[in-house]
Amino acid sequence: MKKIIVTIDGWSSCGKSTLAKQLAKKLGYVYIDSGAMYRAITLYFLRNHIDWSNENDVLNALNCIRLHFEYNPETQLAEIFLNNENVEYVIRDMVVAEKVSEVAAIPAVRTFAVQQQKYMGEKKGIVMDGRDIGTTVFPNAELKIFMTADMLIRVERRFLEMQIKNPNVTFKEVQSNLQMRDQTDSTREVSPLKMAEDAILLDNSKLTMEQQLDFALQLIQEKL
Ligand code: C5P
Repeated sequence: MKKIIVTIDGWSSCGKSTLAKQLAKKLGYVYIDSGAMYRAITLYFLRNHIDWSNENDVLNALNCIRLHFEYNPETQLAEIFLNNENVEYVIRDMVVAEKVSEVAAIPAVRTFAVQQQKYMGEKKGIVMDGRDIGTTVFPNAELKIFMTADMLIRVERRFLEMQIKNPNVTFKEVQSNLQMRDQTDSTREVSPLKMAEDAILLDNSKLTMEQQLDFALQLIQEKL
């Protein structure tokens, strides 16, 4: 059967990865969480005290970073490795979330990540989520979805998710982090978060997971 590229972009914590995982599973496609790459780069910068306002330091640091994904049959996920260390879980910490949008706005960081993302899609059969996947990484993707949801619903979902790992996290902290990331992501100079002209809008504020999956599967059916 013909294989296509599906891109899912949108605001922070809209449920992009939930939908992307469901779709990849249904279609037997690879799922790539592009945000995990920016988070892993941020983790490296933080751990190694890289001054990311200095272009040379950034370029030197990027030269030392190797990212790859490995499929974990237990979680049924492609987990991210930073220089051969599995960092899938540590990159979800608030410490990383606080800085990731700043790091992701650096042009050299984007060139580094986008180049690898394009390569991953060469054989198609991929669902990738992020902020610029439909606009920059795969502008010719067969199906582009742009997700949105009410801010309060997004905060609530992310808060419940984060509380499991970190019971000290507050609703307010999560809310200001999402607002800050949305603002930085949509106003940066290189590849800002925006809906591609040919993307289909999916507002899942009032949809169940099943309903949003049905909606997306219907779109895919039309493309195949
Ligand atoms: O998807 P997630 O929320 O984990 O992404 C973390 C951050 O990585 C985003 O807030 C954004 O700053 C950055 N990002 C990006 N471009 C992508 C994916 C993520 O700039 N394609």
